[in-house]
Amino acid sequence: MSGIDDLPPLRAVIAEHGLSAKKSLGQNFLLDLNLTAKIARQAGDLSACDVLEVGPGPGGLTRGLLAQGARRVLAVEKDARCLPALEEIAERHPGRLEVVNADALSLDPLAHLTPPIRIVANLPYNVGTELLTRWLDPGHWPPFWNSLTLMFQKEVAQRIVAPPGGKAYGRLAILSQWRSDARIVMEIPPEAFTPPPKIRSAVVHITALPEPRFPAPAKTLFALTAAAFGQRRKMLRASLRSLDPEIEERLRSVGIAPTRRAEELSLEEFCALARALDRG
Ligand code: SAM
Repeated sequence: MSGIDDLPPLRAVIAEHGLSAKKSLGQNFLLDLNLTAKIARQAGDLSACDVLEVGPGPGGLTRGLLAQGARRVLAVEKDARCLPALEEIAERHPGRLEVVNADALSLDPLAHLTPPIRIVANLPYNVGTELLTRWLDPGHWPPFWNSLTLMFQKEVAQRIVAPPGGKAYGRLAILSQWRSDARIVMEIPPEAFTPPPKIRSAVVHITALPEPRFPAPAKTLFALTAAAFGQRRKMLRASLRSLDPEIEERLRSVGIAPTRRAEELSLEEFCALARALDRG
């Protein structure tokens, strides 16, 4: 018995199913079910929501989500070795857990889930930022999800919530903060995992805003931030020249000195510049 449900403790599940961690799949498993329940609580009230969980592994967070009352959970796991352990959880929660053996990068969650949808995951490091980028730039807004509660390396979490002016501020901050609220809600030490990773981890909670904070054409804004932060040490008149030969004019037209650098620009200024670039 484990404290949050009547299934065996995670250490026993991992041993019984021979789930030795594979580095290639970013496998660091959480062992403490009180901790996984705490992470699930950060996602808010789950009772009226479907939840997408990417990479359930032996199911620690999955059990936390179910214990917190999630209406339904879709758990997408690439490693087929984890399926028997996950099926045992599904049997204890009839109709509430669907397990899919797939690569999360090629799965359409809407074929399985009904809105409102929250995404909660201890993401595999090798696909974490790719998935986050897709969820934050889905092609139309508002997106299919209401909130994202995601564990990352602490350094990535800091880049998501970074304010202007520091090294952590970059493309990921703009992408996350333009149309969402993002905050770090928990830090997790390496000892919480098996095997313990070399880095600290943090949980970020992101809620989708109904509208962007400032109007801007998404494609231009993201091309602009990629160019500006791609050469972040350069002045904007140099880093952005490839986007517009008249870039100095364009910068001045929105009150930005061409000698400034990417990390000094606020989100509002990036949006104003993206609009000016689109006006041509
Ligand atoms: N949720 C578990 C926990 O907290 O203990 C495991 C987290 S572990 C960091 C990441 C999990 O993602 C592993 O189970 C791994 O097999 C799975 N995974 C890796 N790449 C994946 C992908 N592309 N699609 C779905 N699952 C993936």
